[in-house]
Amino acid sequence: MTDWTLSYEGFEPAQEGLREALCTLGNGYFAARGAAEEAEADDTHYPGTYLAGGYNRLATEVAGRVIENEDLVNLPNWLPLTFRPEGGDWLNLLAVEVLSYRQELDLKQGVLKRAMRLRDRTGRETTLESRRLVHMGAPHLAAIEWTLTPENWLGRVEVLSALDGRVINAGVPRYRQLNGKHLVPLASREIGEDGVLLLAETSQSHIRIAEAARTQVFQDGEGLAVERRFVTEEGYVAHALSFPVAEGTPVTIEKVVALHTSRDRAISSPALAAEETLREAGRFGTLLEDHARAWSHLWRRCDLTLEGRHRTQMILRLHVFHLLQTVSPHSVDLDVGVPARGLHGEAYRGHIFWDELFIFPFLNLRIPEITRALLRYRHRRLPAARRLARAAGYRGAMYPWQSGSDGREETQVLHLNPKSGRWLPDNTHLQRHVNVAIAYNVWRHYEATGDAEFLSVYGAEMLVEIARFWASIASFNAERGRYEIRGVMGPDEFHDRYPWAEKPGLDNNAYTNVMAVWVLLRALDARMLLDSERRVELDERLGLAADEVAGWDEISRKMFVPFHDGVISQFEGYERLEEFDWVGYCTKYGDIHRLDRLLEAEGDTVNRYKASKQADALMLFYLFSTEELGDLFARLGYPFEGELIPRTVDYYLRRTSNGSTLSGIVHSWVLARADRAGSWTQLRAALESDIADVQGGTTPEGIHLGAMAGTVDLVQRGQTGLEIRDDMLRLNPCLPEELRGLRFRIRHRGHWLDIDIGCERLTISAPDGWDGPERIVIRDETYAFHAGERLEVPCHLEDGGWRPAPRAGDMNGGAEGG
Ligand code: BGC
Repeated sequence: MTDWTLSYEGFEPAQEGLREALCTLGNGYFAARGAAEEAEADDTHYPGTYLAGGYNRLATEVAGRVIENEDLVNLPNWLPLTFRPEGGDWLNLLAVEVLSYRQELDLKQGVLKRAMRLRDRTGRETTLESRRLVHMGAPHLAAIEWTLTPENWLGRVEVLSALDGRVINAGVPRYRQLNGKHLVPLASREIGEDGVLLLAETSQSHIRIAEAARTQVFQDGEGLAVERRFVTEEGYVAHALSFPVAEGTPVTIEKVVALHTSRDRAISSPALAAEETLREAGRFGTLLEDHARAWSHLWRRCDLTLEGRHRTQMILRLHVFHLLQTVSPHSVDLDVGVPARGLHGEAYRGHIFWDELFIFPFLNLRIPEITRALLRYRHRRLPAARRLARAAGYRGAMYPWQSGSDGREETQVLHLNPKSGRWLPDNTHLQRHVNVAIAYNVWRHYEATGDAEFLSVYGAEMLVEIARFWASIASFNAERGRYEIRGVMGPDEFHDRYPWAEKPGLDNNAYTNVMAVWVLLRALDARMLLDSERRVELDERLGLAADEVAGWDEISRKMFVPFHDGVISQFEGYERLEEFDWVGYCTKYGDIHRLDRLLEAEGDTVNRYKASKQADALMLFYLFSTEELGDLFARLGYPFEGELIPRTVDYYLRRTSNGSTLSGIVHSWVLARADRAGSWTQLRAALESDIADVQGGTTPEGIHLGAMAGTVDLVQRGQTGLEIRDDMLRLNPCLPEELRGLRFRIRHRGHWLDIDIGCERLTISAPDGWDGPERIVIRDETYAFHAGERLEVPCHLEDGGWRPAPRAGDMNGGAEGG
C-alpha cells in the first residue's frame, strides 16, 4: 500500500462487497462499483452502475400498505467480460485454483487493476491482468483492458463481452422485499463491425439509457482477426469472440463503453449519442492518457500532503478520490445533488440528506463551481420546498429530509428493523434542520467565493424563504417570553418522540433553535447585501413586508435554548430521560452502534434513554467558532461562560453510540483544541469508517460521503483552524502530535493560496495573485499579506500545540500586532 494505492492481496469472497464499494470508479456523471468483470449479482458480488440523478419510483405492498420509494437506479451492467479456453469453463474465481491475486486502486490515475494467476480443473494456467477506468475527462466513456496470457497451454479461447440490462436494484438486503425492477428493455443491436448497443428505459421516470460497447483483440499491438458472434436476448446483448492463443504469448482485449441518457444535453437521442461517442473513442491507452491527465488536474487542486503518516495520507486521498468521483466538474452542467452514500451502492436509495454540510467545506475551498451547481439543485426545488411548507401549515420553504428527483419528501414511511424483522413507522422526516444545512451552505459558499451574483440570483432567495419557514414554525410562549420550535427531530435519530408522548417529535432541539436564529440573521444580512433594486424586486416577488423582516429580528433575540445540569440540553426535557447502561449493553452485544435496533428488538425503545446516535447539540461547536457562538448566545441573552463548551462536550461524548459515521467527525472537531490526543483518536476512527467498514456491513452498500469529506475537512480546517470571518482569513493551527507537517492549497475568491504548515515555519504564498484579504490572522497575530508576497511565520510545535515563534523576525509581511 503506497500513499496513492489501495491494494488487496488474495481473493476473499466475504470481502468482495466492501472492495466493490471502495473500488468504485466514477466521474460525477456516472459510477460503477468495482465488481469483477466476470461476475453477476450473487451472494458474493454486486455489480452496480449509477447515473447521477438517475432516479425511478416504484410502489410495493408492505405490511398491508402500499408504499412508494424512489431509487437511484442500477443501470445496465456494462462490465461483463469473461473468457474460457475452448472446452473449459467460463471464468469463476470460486471454481478455479487461484494461484495469486492482487487488486489495486490507483488513486492518482483513477485506475482499477487486478492481476491473477489461475489454474483450471484440467491444469491450464492463465495469467490475467485487467485495468479499468471511468473517464474523468470524457464523462460518457469507460474502458476495460484485459491482458491474458496462457502460461502452459495453447488453443482457442472464447471471450464474451456483454451489456446486461436484466439487472434489478437488489444491493441492500433490507430493501429486498421492495420492488426493485426499474428497467424496461427497449432494443439491442450490433453497431459497426465490433460494437453492440443496448437501449433501456426506467419504468416511471422514463429516463432512456443507451450503452454501446466495442470489443477488440490485439496481439503485439496489432488487431487480431477474431470470429465474432452476436448474442442477444431481451435486455441483454453481447459479442462472443473466438481466437487462437499461443503458450506464453499475451493477448489484449479491450472493451470501450459509451453511456448516454435522455437527461443529457446537446444530443439528439441517447442511442445516437452513444454510437457517436464510441466511434470517436480511441484505444484504451489513449483513453487512459487523457483520463490520467484529467485526474492530475484535479489532484493539483485537491491533494493534501501530510508529513510521515502513510496510511492516513492514503485514506485521505481515497476520501478525496471518492468525493470527486461522486461530484466532479462534470456535475456543474447537471441537475444533481450529492447523495449521502455516493454513487457507490444503493443504501438510502441514492437520496440527498443534510450530509452536504460536511461535504461542501472541502469543495468550497477547492472547486466552488461544484458547490454552486449543487446549491442550484436545491434552488430548482424551491417550489417543491414551498409546497411542503404550505402542506405542513408553514410559510416559506421547507426542504425535505431526503430529496431525490423533484424535491418532494422521499423519506420512507416505514423502515425495517433487521434485528426484529418488524416494519416500523419512520419519523426521520421531522429533521427540519436540513433547512439549516442548506442555508448554512449558501452562506459559506458566498463567504468563500464572494460571489455576489450567486447570492443575488439564487442564494438570497433561498435564505429568505428558509428564514421565513423558521419564523413561521417558531411560536411565542408568552409565559417564557421566548420563541419555541416544537415537534421536530434533531440530528440524533435515536430520539423521535418523548417516551411519555403519543405523537412523534421533540420540543426545542437546541441545535435547531440556535441554528434557526443564525439563519434568520444571515437572511437579514443577505437582503442588505443586495443592491437596493434587487432587494425591492426580491421583496416584491416574495411578498416580503417590513413587519415580517422585523419579526425575524425579534425571534433572533428571543429564541428559547434549553439547559440542564450546566450543559446545553439536546432538547427540552432531555434531563427526564433515564441513564443508559452502556457497559452492560456493550458486554451483552459488543457492537452497540445501532442500539435503537437492539432495544426495539428487545421490546424496549431508545427514546427512554440519554443515549444518542450521533452528535447533536455538539454540532453547534462544530459549525461555529467560540467567538461566533458567544455572539449568538449573547444576542439571545444566555450566559456563555468558558466551561460551558467542555462540559457539554464531555456530557454528550459519554452518551453517544456513534451510530452514524458523521458523529466521529464532529467529535474529533470539538476536541481539536482541548484534547489533541482525543481528537486524533476520533479522527483515526473516522478515517477507518469505510476502509475498515467499522459499522460491519454498511460500506458495501455505499460509502459514507459525509464522513469521507468530513475527515479531509477536519485536516484542512479543523487542525489548522482555518476560517474566513469578518472578511479575514484566519489560521490557528493545532496539529496533533502525530502530524508533523501539512501542505495544501485553497481557492479563495478566484486565487490559489498555498499553505505549508511545518514544525518550524508556516508559509503562505499565492502563486497566481491574490484577491483575498490583505491581512491574515495567524493565531492572535495579524500579518500583512499582499499579492506576490510570501508570508513566512517561524513557529514551533510544543505541548500546547503549534505556536508562532515569539519573535517573527524574517517574515515578509510583518506582524501588525493585535
Ligand atoms: C444519519 C444521518 C445522515 C444519514 C445519511 C443517518 O444514519 O443519522 O445524519 O444524514 O445517515 O448519511
